[in-house]
Amino acid sequence: MPIRILSPEVVSKIAAGEVIERPASVVKELIENSIDAGASEIKVEVRQGGRRLIRVIDDGRGIPAEEVELAFERYSTSKLKDAEDLYRIATLGFRGEALPSIAAVSKVTMVTRTKEQEIGVLLRLEGGKVIKRQKKGALRGTVVSVEDLFFNTPARLKFLRKESTEARHISDLVTRYALAYPSMRFSLLSEGRTLFRSTGSGSLYDVLIEVYGLETARQMLEIAPLQEPVPSQRDPKGQGSRPKGIPREGMREEAEGLKISGYVGAPSLHRASGRYLTILINGRWVRDQLLGYAIKEAYHTLLPKGRYPVAVVRVALSPQEVDINVHPAKAEVRFRRSGEVFAAVQKAVRHTLKGAPIPVVAPPRWTPEPRLPTSLRPSPGQMALEVQRTEEIAPSKNIPPLRVLGQLGLTYIIAEGPEGMYLIDQHAAHERVLYERLLGERAKMAVSSQSLLEPLSLDLSPEEAAIVEENLDTLRSWGFDLEPFGGQTYLLRAVPAILKEGDLSQAMREVIDEASRQAGRWEEEFVISLACHGAVRAGQTMSEGEMRELVRQLEKTNSPRTCPHGRPTMIHLSAEQLQKEFGRS
Ligand code: ADP
Ligand code: MG
Repeated sequence: MPIRILSPEVVSKIAAGEVIERPASVVKELIENSIDAGASEIKVEVRQGGRRLIRVIDDGRGIPAEEVELAFERYSTSKLKDAEDLYRIATLGFRGEALPSIAAVSKVTMVTRTKEQEIGVLLRLEGGKVIKRQKKGALRGTVVSVEDLFFNTPARLKFLRKESTEARHISDLVTRYALAYPSMRFSLLSEGRTLFRSTGSGSLYDVLIEVYGLETARQMLEIAPLQEPVPSQRDPKGQGSRPKGIPREGMREEAEGLKISGYVGAPSLHRASGRYLTILINGRWVRDQLLGYAIKEAYHTLLPKGRYPVAVVRVALSPQEVDINVHPAKAEVRFRRSGEVFAAVQKAVRHTLKGAPIPVVAPPRWTPEPRLPTSLRPSPGQMALEVQRTEEIAPSKNIPPLRVLGQLGLTYIIAEGPEGMYLIDQHAAHERVLYERLLGERAKMAVSSQSLLEPLSLDLSPEEAAIVEENLDTLRSWGFDLEPFGGQTYLLRAVPAILKEGDLSQAMREVIDEASRQAGRWEEEFVISLACHGAVRAGQTMSEGEMRELVRQLEKTNSPRTCPHGRPTMIHLSAEQLQKEFGRS
């Protein structure tokens, strides 16, 4: 064939392929646009793993009506003026490629309105061509709906993975951006179900709780600022004597504005894959091998072989110090002084791991209110807000020895201790006991399992079957013996011993379902859910012997005061409070 110039249509599809690899790439570009538009809330909705629909709704500044078409032209951007700007990019986008690339391979509808305009505009494109434009009433901000992704590029469509896998990539992405921007409110809906939500409180720690759960978050250490090179007089070694909790001042700022912050998991917290490491450079989530290596190195000898840390490391530095324009999807960067950045990250993490005391979560404050004990239980959401990290309070490891007095409302165990009365939530307490037992057994690879007399056949939904298939070994290690039986059917031959009663297939299904909703922390959710299903329920009669045994076991756990979901297992009515209530003091 003679040499020919490719038609613009082919060119646009090739270019789109560089930027838009899979549904999660669309989500990434749209979220980045929303962040660049100064949004405070970003809602993401997907259907069929993003294949059918991806919708991103923001309350950012919107696009002026007369520029909407332009936004879909290649290389059109409001973020760069000239070539010089390329060396100091302060926005996430800058190439003007995302919207045209998305539009080239899908059916896009954008509705947008700026503050200055009274009525918004709707623009619809199919395969990159505008097919509709009209005025439309709209809130300030932008809604981009992307339907039938890759409808005109069958080759790309073929490369897509299972819906559940694509959905997991999307959820992974949304959580990383939530970690990068704690003051923005993110939510992710898949098939109408909320998979993730962050509050936008501004605290990275709050997002950590939302992404990884309280149990994990509480094992994470805030990266301590590096010490000042010139020590102050009062503190000759530059460490130590400052009262706890007061931020240190005058921390060293590297010449080029380099600052490292974030959270790193205590060495006791580790995972089987590197997915729990998030590196953010100037608010951009990147896969940086170099910095990943720096962080792993900082944990050297502290983690078991083959295990990875959980960490969120934010690197801030002047935009001139970093070149973002090296990768089509902007997923990699190049540092001007990579050696310095490497050393700074490694040092910051190492310093945190070595020096800092382990922050612990203060026990939920018992605020005795005798008439309405159940209302005292904070919801998990509230808990997250009330959690105080403090360096002074030791973990509320032990509870006093308790004497069981009876059962209340078939839900609570009434007990007496040296400091008054305790009401124990029987379900929450048992959940805690089972949870720690399971973790202990799992650590020794010895989860007790019980064979079923007759195997139970489970017909799973495609999504459930996909999860089971992906996690057969993991499920086995937790005591489930499942055997593929063709299609989406599995034979359940054994279950964890703690699940001895009740409707097993139902329990199995729920456990899988709950766990699958938490992309990224599947196994963790799975154990919690397992413990929940094995635990005695509210409304179940307990004999005095059973209650005594439960309280005894609870006393032996590491965190007796909360259930694995973070709810309190008990409330305390102090002797003092009792006296006050009865007017005896
Ligand atoms: P880039 O982000 O690199 O500029 P895009 O193709 O992603 O390129 O977007 C083109 C332009 O459209 C942006 O520069 C911006 O002006 C506008 N834009 C896109 N999305 C939004 C949004 N959610 N809110 C406001 N403006 C937007
Ligand atoms: Mg963009």
